[in-house]
Amino acid sequence: MNIIQYGRWKEPQKKERKTNLDAKECDKKVKYCTKCQLCWQIDYTSRGGSRKAVVIHYEDFVTYGKERELCLSCR
Ligand SMILES: [Zn+2]
Repeated sequence: MNIIQYGRWKEPQKKERKTNLDAKECDKKVKYCTKCQLCWQIDYTSRGGSRKAVVIHYEDFVTYGKERELCLSCR
């Protein structure tokens, strides 16, 4: 009984920490495309259980200090 209850409590906490970590990682991965002149990053959606890579463009994003790299749709 005690073991089952512990497992139920532990799982949500683990997920929360992982989400916070991902958010920080995402910000570092934002790059600036010199062709469409937008900041972009690769995001992963999990629809139907399979992870799929999608490109997100940011129209109002600070480009200073961002890595210059063509986005996936401009390559
Ligand atoms: Zn582009």
